[in-house]
Amino acid sequence: MPDELQQLDWADHASERLAGAGYRRGGARQAVIDLLAQQPCALSALEIEEALRGAGGRPVARASVYRVIDELEQLKLVSRIEVGHGISRYEAVHPDGHHHHHHLVCDDCEKVIPFADDELERTIHRVADRVAFDVAEHDIVLHGSCGDCGRRRTARR
Ligand SMILES: [Zn+2]
Ligand SMILES: [Zn+2]
Repeated sequence: MPDELQQLDWADHASERLAGAGYRRGGARQAVIDLLAQQPCALSALEIEEALRGAGGRPVARASVYRVIDELEQLKLVSRIEVGHGISRYEAVHPDGHHHHHHLVCDDCEKVIPFADDELERTIHRVADRVAFDVAEHDIVLHGSCGDCGRRRTARR
């Protein structure tokens, strides 16, 4: 299964980078890494905390979840997606660009829908070439109403 291999790769890659930065291999750190490695898209800190509690292992305190996320973000191992209302979501950044995608955010229910588009990627590279700018990373977030919320809003009128 190529996808499972990629997930393992990110967990290994993240553990190595953390060790290289002087962080010790801790239970909370490993639990957060293992969880994020399995996600197809971004989770909020609260969702991470709840998922870890539901996983049956030793619960990880909220402060530890935030600390680990912060470490991962500083090493650019996760990217942060602002979904409005002061909430951020986090997802694994694969070193080879695998699973690279962007996000649609529903401003009504805060659902995050991932999307990928080759044409969009080509456009971003074309812009970078034109202005001679070395784009290291990019994350595009489109805000609006998801299908469910849009329908609900129309029905209310
Ligand atoms: Zn995502
Ligand atoms: Zn919605």
